[in-house]
This record gives sequence, C-alpha cells and structure tokens, in this order.
Amino acid sequence: MIYDSNNLFARIIKGELPCDKVYEDDHVIAFHDIHPAAPIHVLILPKGEYCSFDDFVFKADSDTVRNFYLKVREIAHSLGLAETGYRLIMNHGPHASQTVHHYHVHLLGKRPLGPLVAGDNYHA
Ligand code: 5GP
Repeated sequence: MIYDSNNLFARIIKGELPCDKVYEDDHVIAFHDIHPAAPIHVLILPKGEYCSFDDFVFKADSDTVRNFYLKVREIAHSLGLAETGYRLIMNHGPHASQTVHHYHVHLLGKRPLGPLVAGDNYHA
C-alpha cells in the first residue's frame, strides 16, 4: 500500500484536525480514541509515514522501532496501567479491520478486557 499523506492521522499530526492529546514529541503522538472501547483507549503513533505495523517494522530503523515501543511502555505507565495490565492492538489490513492507514497502536486498559477477538470464549 502507498502511504496517503492526507489520511486522518496524518492530518492530526500536522495539526489540521483536533485531537485529545495525551503525549507528543518530535517522533510520537498519542491521543484518546474518539470511540473508546475501554475506560482508557489511547492511540499511539510514530509520526513517520508508515501504513501499518507491517510497514513500520520492515522500513523503520532499529532505533526508531525500539524508541517507539519504549514510548508506548512509558505512556502505559504514565496512565497508571502497568499494575492492572493493558492490551496493545495493532491492526494490519482488512481482516483486522484497519480503517486508518497510518500505523497506530491501540492502548487499552482500566478494566478487564475480556476476549481477544469476537467469538473467542477461551480468553474471556
Ligand atoms: P483501526 O481500525 O485503523 O485500527 O483504528 C482506527 C481508530 O481510529 C478507531 O478505533 C477509531 O475509533 C479511531 N478514530 C477514527 N476517527 C477518529 C478521529 O477523528 N479522532 C480520533 N481521536 N480517533 C478516531
């Protein structure tokens, strides 16, 4: 997939659209999901032009990848999720229902999160 520099999250990064920001630096932005699926549901994005996890981990250099996931961890801790736990979701492509094609991690927590996916009774 070719990166569309006018996708929704690219426009949020550029400041063209608003967001409820949790964290921002030169490389990363994090904001609350507009349709939260848990009491805490934050989207964490590298600012670089990557369509999905699949693209990011393949194209970004090692420092960028490591620093991004360290920042995800730091944000999870800063939101008080380290003790009770949290879930990270990264959707790639149609079967995962990816809707915005700028790589983002969903960080969810502050309640038991239940099944891994719809129809899964084992992890409930
Ligand atoms: P995906 O399905 O691509 O993994 O996740 C995209 C997420 O973006 C969804 O959870 C959706 O609720 C969220 N979203 C869609 N539009 C907006 C918006 O305008 N602002 C924010 N903050 N989140 C949005």
